[in-house]
Formats: sequence, C-alpha cells, structure tokens
Amino acid sequence: MSKDSILVINCGSSSLKFAVINPATEEETINGIAERMGSSEALIRWKIAGQKGSKDLGQAAHEEAISALMDVLKQENLIESISAIGHRVVHGGETFTESCLVTDEVLAAIEDTIKLAPLHNPANLTGIHACQKIFPGLPNAVVFDTAFHQSMPAEAYLYPVPYSLYKEQGVRRYGFHGTSYRYIGQTTADMLGMDINDSCILVAHLGNGASACAIKNGKSIDTTMGLTPLEGLVMGTRSGDVDPNLFSYLNKTLGYSLDETTDMLNKKSGLLGLSEMDSDCRVIEDAAAEGNERAQLTLDVFSHVLAEKLAGFAAALGRIDALVFTGGIGENSATLRKQVIERLSIFGFKLNEQLNEETFRGKSGVITEEGSTVAMVVATNEELMISRDTQALTA
Ligand code: AMP
Repeated sequence: MSKDSILVINCGSSSLKFAVINPATEEETINGIAERMGSSEALIRWKIAGQKGSKDLGQAAHEEAISALMDVLKQENLIESISAIGHRVVHGGETFTESCLVTDEVLAAIEDTIKLAPLHNPANLTGIHACQKIFPGLPNAVVFDTAFHQSMPAEAYLYPVPYSLYKEQGVRRYGFHGTSYRYIGQTTADMLGMDINDSCILVAHLGNGASACAIKNGKSIDTTMGLTPLEGLVMGTRSGDVDPNLFSYLNKTLGYSLDETTDMLNKKSGLLGLSEMDSDCRVIEDAAAEGNERAQLTLDVFSHVLAEKLAGFAAALGRIDALVFTGGIGENSATLRKQVIERLSIFGFKLNEQLNEETFRGKSGVITEEGSTVAMVVATNEELMISRDTQALTA
C-alpha cells in the first residue's frame, strides 16, 4: 500500500473527529468521531465505503481515543497509507498567520495562546501530543482557525478600548472559522471562473457556531467573531453581540456572577434562548411553519442581525461578486437564506425560489436569478483544507 494519505484530526474537549483523505483524489477513505470522552461511555464511530462501525471505549480520554483510532485504522488496513497528520487548532493568536509543521517552538507558541482559548487549545494540544506518541515518526501539521483573519487591517481588528489592552493583553478581534473561509474563497472563485486576486466575496458560515466574513482578493478584511467565538451573529446557544453592560446590569439586578452571565451568553442564549425551544434551527423552522410566533421572531432576529453585518461588510468590500452561504444552516435552510437575501435586496439580489429550495444537503450552486447580484451555496470542507495544507507542508 502506498503511503500517500493524510489523517486529519479535530480534537474538541469531549470529542475527536477524524478523517483520512487521499490528496490525489481529495476523497475521504474513512471518517468518524470519538465522543463522550471524559465520561464512562466514550464511543468511537466511523464510516468507510458506506459501511458503519463503532466500538465502546468505556472510560477514555484523548490518548485512549487516538489509540482506539489507530486500532480502527489497522483493522481497516489503512494504517500503512498514512503519511502525515493534520490537526485543527482553534487559536493561533497573532503568532500564526498560516499553517505550519509541529516543532517544539510551535507547541510552545500554542501553549502561549491557551489564555485566549482556554477550552479549545488545551484539547488541540492533547491531540497533537497523543498523535506524536501513538504515531511516532509521522510528521504533524497544525492549521489554525484564526490564521486566515490575520490579514485584517487594524481598523477592523482593534476594539475601541485602551490601546494598552491590545499591546499588553492581546485584546483584539481574531475571528474564527478561518479554514472554512479560505476554502470557500478559493472554491467560489473557481466555481464562478473569477480571478481570486480580483474578487470581493461575502460569506456567511452558519452552523451551530455562526460568523460572517468579508474576503477581498482572497484575504479576510473583516469578520464578526472577535476575541472569542461569542461575538457577532446569533448562534445555536451563543448570543452574539449584546451590550457589554449586561454583565453589570445582571449582577446588580439578579446577582449574576461573571461566570453565570458568561455561561448564559454562551450556552443558554441565541436560537435556544430566544425561542425557549431548541438550539437546532430545524426545530425552530418547523415550529414557525406551524404558526408559532416566538419561533418566527427568533428567525427574524437571526436574519436581521446577519443582514446588518453583511451590509456593513459590503461597504468595506466596495463591491459584491458573490454572497455565499455555508455551514449546516447556510447549506440547508432555504427559509433563512430567503429571509436574508430579501433583507439585502438594496444590493440587487433577486432570489430564484426554485434554485434556493433545491439546494441543500451538500449541494453547491447559485440561488439567484440571471442578472441578480450572485448569491450561492457552497458546501464547506474544513477537513479537505487541513489535508491540503498538511500535504503541501510535508510533500
Ligand atoms: P453545523 O454546526 O455546521 O454542523 O450546523 C448545525 C446546524 O445546522 C444546526 O443548527 C442544525 O439545525 C442546522 N441544520 C441542519 N440541517 C438543517 C436544515 N435542513 N434546515 C435548517 N437547519 C439545518
């Protein structure tokens, strides 16, 4: 078997997603997830050639999950095909402007950014350390969610707070979903036959976490997420933008501590908090279709905030070559795409209702009429981008 495939690892605090991608065909040979890690009911699931497999792991942390992944790769005769491992890392601070190979200095710099992503970066590091131990001899590469946004100008990344907080504490907008935006920027330019070096693309990455990005000539010039992934759009359980005085207001009126308000804004707000139903957009859309007014209001707030941000980004771009929807909601929700496009009609968008309804479940394509400013759906693929970078760094 030729040693020509990339293992992509996306390590979260309690889950580990993985895929093996053949760089020549860009196809996934296997993909899966180890989940409920840290509990006594950890489980690894995978899919290969349409066949599903799973195994209980009992009490398992990251190292045990990666060991179990190695067993699965052995069992499926894939272990010999792996030439390198690519890791998603959430926060690269201002140090990392692009993907790179793992060295001791790189690991130390990722350690240094833990204070900016205390939940994510430690899990990402644990995944890298476990792979170094369990797959000795294979090169590891790291691909950062923040790196793509390092091209933002200072006027877009600085908060209007004392400048010393930026210089001394790193308080600034970093932005996330960068791997997805880089993929979407390139793919959109290819699909529309545009020169990426002369392109202005608006992207709405709408999943459980949601953000938008303005991409000019292939580079991020603004994005909605900030110092942390809480800022910006309405998300599944995250509020996005609120008045920062909410912290002191809730402390004085309800006695909420900093942690309680932080928890409320991250885990009990957004679609879930407003609807008081669910964080899953499908549940809210179904309720709205049945006449539930709160569900409809929740969707209205979501699309209002998104349209306002996109309109602001259009001003920063100066021109719109395409508005792209991606992520679980962006790729599947014809209802929300319609609402957002109607709110942006001032920019010359005319929705083609049929194309909009027909584009879902991983399908990509234009959803506007001939002669309209282009809006389209592009299915994102962060794993493919990580494998491309890893292949380029190790080839
Ligand atoms: P992601 O985080 O990108 O996996 O996206 C997850 C989100 O996509 C969840 O809020 C789902 O409700 C949403 N989603 C998936 N399919 C649909 C659909 N057909 N209509 C609306 N939302 C969807």
